[in-house]
Amino acid sequence: MEHKKITLLPGDGIGQEVTRSAVQVMKAAAQFSGIEFEFQECLMGGCSYDAHGIPLTDETLQVCFNSDAVFLGAVGGYKWETLPHHLKPEAALLKLRKELGLYTNIRPAKVYEPLIDASTLKRSVVAGVDFVVLRELTGGIYFGTPRGMTAESGWNTMVYAKEEVERIARMGFEIARKRNGRVTSVDKANVLEVSQFWRNVVHEVHKDYQDVQLSDMYVDNAAMQIVRDPKQFDVLLTSNLFGDILSDIAGMITGSLGMLPSASIGAKYSLYEPVHGSAPDIAGQKKANPLAAISSVAMMFAYTFNLKKTSDLIESAIDKTLADGLRTPDIFSEGCKLVTTDEMTDAVIGNLNKVL
Ligand code: NAD
Repeated sequence: MEHKKITLLPGDGIGQEVTRSAVQVMKAAAQFSGIEFEFQECLMGGCSYDAHGIPLTDETLQVCFNSDAVFLGAVGGYKWETLPHHLKPEAALLKLRKELGLYTNIRPAKVYEPLIDASTLKRSVVAGVDFVVLRELTGGIYFGTPRGMTAESGWNTMVYAKEEVERIARMGFEIARKRNGRVTSVDKANVLEVSQFWRNVVHEVHKDYQDVQLSDMYVDNAAMQIVRDPKQFDVLLTSNLFGDILSDIAGMITGSLGMLPSASIGAKYSLYEPVHGSAPDIAGQKKANPLAAISSVAMMFAYTFNLKKTSDLIESAIDKTLADGLRTPDIFSEGCKLVTTDEMTDAVIGNLNKVL
């Protein structure tokens, strides 16, 4: 049995509810994966502010540093909206990502067959879509200096150092090797020098990954192609700004916010979280869709524990549960069975045991 330490940061609102679901699935999947989990739960976000006066304490960070992976629910809520910026729950998210050195964000765009009709795109366009957007998370224009604003002008700097592009390119090629072996690197090399630099470095790194197919695409074309023919993609490799936008476009072709998982990975640490927020409008009402959180657990098995088979089994269990017609209110449609967060979670675990 391998022993793995997981830090749980349930956070606020439905973050608490979906983290409970995630933990149950982790425990169920652990049984057949040769892993034994040790969980340590810490406060982060509004609940941490209420208890300690700040949204992320050094003690919580320390626990994260000592774990094999971190699972985050969601943070934020009406109660903390008027706090000064640095005390807001959302400030803790940025700090956590920075402290853990999470330079890659991975967001899958996968369409579950039973939910195809929830997409705003035609069935023929979205059926079978399965790609990931790899976004550089700690560099680029969001962090570049100089930056500033006067009454007359505003400015930011898009800058990438070679090692920043190299490490995410490597991550992209490694991930493509475990998927369908294709990387599309997105840039704006026809206009921006920083993008031409990005392209040069990606191609240099590619020399070590000749088994992976690499192509380049301008970001404006990529935005168009994601809604025109998303099936063409396997791994989309992007800088911070472009990835921010493209990952939201890619996420939405699949339908609902309650279905979108994510992983953020650095050299030493990894963090898994659903894309959605704390949904204060439905918190405590058993209406939260736990599938984004459960799918984030599937990503944890694939990326941190290198157990792709377990990850696929969790995804199959989600598929089966949806095919059985179970729906939380956010994805409900006529003829389906309306269920609570816990009922959905129990059904996924039931199906996980069956697919074994
Ligand atoms: P949100 O994602 O919380 O909710 C948007 C809408 O989607 C709401 O109507 C909500 O009910 C619904 N929704 C979201 N997740 C759902 C789920 N799993 N099941 C069913 N319905 C779901 O976004 P928001 O309302 O803009 O933000 C609420 C709070 O969350 C804010 O404080 C915001 O700053 C914070 N937030 C946190 C994160 C994070 O922790 N990573 C991300 C986004 C927003």
